[in-house]
Amino acid sequence: MKKLIYLLLALIIIACKEDITKPIQEENNKEEITSSPKKEITDPKETEVWDPEPKAISFNENNVPSDAIILFNGNDLDQWISTKDAVLASWNINSDNTMTIEPGTGDIQTKENFGSVQLHLEWKAPDVVEGEGQGRGNSGVFFQNKYEVQILDSYQNRTYANGQATSIYKQHIPLVNATKPNDQWQTYDIIFHAPEFDQAGKKTKSGSFTVIHNGILVQDHVEILGSTEYIGPPKNEPHGKGPIKLQDHSNPVHYRNIWVRELD
Ligand code: MG
Repeated sequence: MKKLIYLLLALIIIACKEDITKPIQEENNKEEITSSPKKEITDPKETEVWDPEPKAISFNENNVPSDAIILFNGNDLDQWISTKDAVLASWNINSDNTMTIEPGTGDIQTKENFGSVQLHLEWKAPDVVEGEGQGRGNSGVFFQNKYEVQILDSYQNRTYANGQATSIYKQHIPLVNATKPNDQWQTYDIIFHAPEFDQAGKKTKSGSFTVIHNGILVQDHVEILGSTEYIGPPKNEPHGKGPIKLQDHSNPVHYRNIWVRELD
């Protein structure tokens, strides 16, 4: 009996010892791993990556990159159709390589459908400053026919903040108001990542917008919550690629130099 008790005691002591020493050993092992001498990199070449080599692009006289699709270069509206009746767009082409919305003729959209893109456009508010809020120099650029980046003469023209120039209409307020007066041309550079949907039509990834207005970051990779609705919350109906659309909001806004680069 005594022998058995001694044996049990011995076993308990061994078990305790193991428990106490195990974490210490593990800690020692960890230290050994982290402090194990790694081969020190001394040659700068070892961290250089040469492939793939980014494709070189060039620029034309209007600073349009060589890998862009030109949507409007000042000569014609061949890339555009009327949203209303699908005939060739009938906004006004001016002699100075610009175009002006012909109020009442309706929105125009690209013939081609696009997914994720980088878009550059230049616009100028109407020559005569008239109307207030949403009624002054209102237009807009829609991606995939659903997601509007607002174009509005927001120079000294207060309106709801999620509806002023460069707002993601009724979803995201711009970081600052970088709008110039109506006699000056303005640039929009927009990165649009399209939302993704699965086979069942469920949204699996939200889209996003980054917007630079006159060189100023105004939308910093914001999430697109769904279609930009005038009334009510955003909708998330599944869709694929779609046209880029310019809005006729009954104000003669001017445009020039519009190009797009596909990102997918
Ligand atoms: Mg608009």
